[in-house]
Order: sequence, then C-alpha cells, then structure tokens
Amino acid sequence: MPAVGSPTSLATVDLMEATGCFFPDVHTNAEKMATLAATAYETLGYDAIAPYFSVIQEAAAMGAHMDWGERGRMPSVRPSPATDRYLYGEPEEIYIPADFLERLPARTVLDALRILKRRYGGEVALVGKVFGPWTLAYHLFGLDNFLMLVLDDPAKLRRILDRLAEITVLYAHAQIAAGADCLTLADHLTGDLCRAETYRDFLLPVHQQLARRLPCPVMLHICGRTLDRMPYIAQSGFAAFHFDSKNDARAAVAAVAGRIRLIGNVNNPDTLYHGKLEQVDAEVAYALQAGVSIIAPECAVPVNMDSRPLRRIVAAARGIDRATA
Ligand SMILES: [Zn+2]
Repeated sequence: MPAVGSPTSLATVDLMEATGCFFPDVHTNAEKMATLAATAYETLGYDAIAPYFSVIQEAAAMGAHMDWGERGRMPSVRPSPATDRYLYGEPEEIYIPADFLERLPARTVLDALRILKRRYGGEVALVGKVFGPWTLAYHLFGLDNFLMLVLDDPAKLRRILDRLAEITVLYAHAQIAAGADCLTLADHLTGDLCRAETYRDFLLPVHQQLARRLPCPVMLHICGRTLDRMPYIAQSGFAAFHFDSKNDARAAVAAVAGRIRLIGNVNNPDTLYHGKLEQVDAEVAYALQAGVSIIAPECAVPVNMDSRPLRRIVAAARGIDRATA
C-alpha cells in the first residue's frame, strides 16, 4: 500500500473549525497544536502527524520580531519596527539562549509531540520539524542581506551557517526525545533564488554533517525548482527529499538515482487549492508510477483551501496497486 504523509503543514481553516483549534493560537498552545495536527490522521487518513505548521518557531524563540498571522494566514518573521533591522547582522552576534527549549514558541512543539506520543505513539508516524541554517539565516539576518553574502563574503556566510546549525541540532534532539519518529528539515536553498552550485559549495557539507548528527530519518524539504541540485541533495545522507511539483517526478527519480527517497509532489496552488479532483488522481498516479516513495502535497498547503482534495490524495494512492503501478 503506498504511504501518504506530509512532512509539511496540512492545516486548513475547515479543520480548525472542526476542532476549535485555530491559527494563530495553535502556534503557542501545545494542546491545540496537537489536536489540530491529529486531523491529518483522524480526518484526512494520512499515515503521519506533523504538529509544527509554520516556519517560525525557532526564530520566535530566538527573539525575532513576529507577525503571528491570523486564522487564515501563516505567521512570519519581520524586521523590528523600531529599527527596521533583523535580529542579527554579524555571525558573532548569534548565541543560543540557555533557556531556548523552554521558551514558549520552541516548547510548544515539544509539548505537542509529547501529547501526540501519548495518544498515537506506535500507531502513526510522528513528524517533528526543524529549520536548517540556510532558512534560519533568512529569518534572523533577512533574506536579501544573507543571500548577498554568497558573492560578497562567503567566509562570513559559512560562519553564519556553522553557528545556526547548532540551533537545528539542539531542537532536533529535543524533538526526538519528545517523541518524534522522524524529522522534516526545511532549508530553502531553492532554484528560485540560488544556483545549484551554491547548494553544493555552501550547504551540502553542512547537510552531510547534520545527517550524521541527527539520529532519526530526516526528510529534507526545499520548495520551488530543485531538479538541478537533486544530484547533490542525493549525497546529503538524509533519508528522503520532499520536492515541489515544479519538478517532474520522473526526472526527479532519475536525478537522485536511488540514493535518496522522494516525497511529493502534488501541486498546491492549482490542483489542491482549486479542488481539481481528477487532477489529484492523475498527479498521484504519475508520482507513484515514477517511483516516488511517499505521496504528499508539495509544501505546506494553503490555509484557506477546502480539505477535501487532501483526502482525495489518500483515496487516489490507496486505489493504486503498487505492484502494477
Ligand atoms: Zn515549502
């Protein structure tokens, strides 16, 4: 039976209404976070529960200025309104507070995993999530400021990656201890912003180290165009790569050549958001026939979409016999 499970958020407003657990409260309330996340299994029928919906829990715990979003909108990191600056400008400013794991945004995910472990441990996969140093740098230094360093000051960029990777490791170990069976590691070095060689030269060595230091299966997530860097991603040592529908599934399977499993890649903005159910069936069948190991939406689903197309992914995958696919 093909596995269906999303490394990224499946939270939608209709699932919030069904549970009474709404954005933005769920980001800082473990009981609500766990209850909303469990709908992936209880309501949608997926083989995994992933309680960390957004991208900001680490940055918020580090002290970045937040826009917590609203019922129909994800939270995001903002520059400080007082200074119009992000949290850091220099790698030497980065330090991990001693109480990082106890700070509410970090602790909420840990407590949610503990709750889910009690309720579902051994029954369904519990997926933790951490952000890699590339994405953490977008949040803590600002995207433009950080990407400029690729050309302007590669040594400084590497110092930032080395320091921020320690946040990834600390939070990953805490989530495993709290009950995560596996981890999503999102680190958005996407083809929409950077060249494949930038992944190879800067981030691949960091990912190889992270793969050695994280004692559970890790699913790397990068949205957007990634086909040109998949041969490098396949050398990361991670268990799987969660990829976007901007990349053809057959081409992706060929690019990784059996060195990493693939998860994906049903289109969000067109197929799922617009509820094109026959297109869901076709994309699920195409991905399975191509050799994608776990079927999932390509990225965090749009919060305002109807959740029915998400159930359709499960029905479509279950309807396909792997042996003949
Ligand atoms: Zn994504």
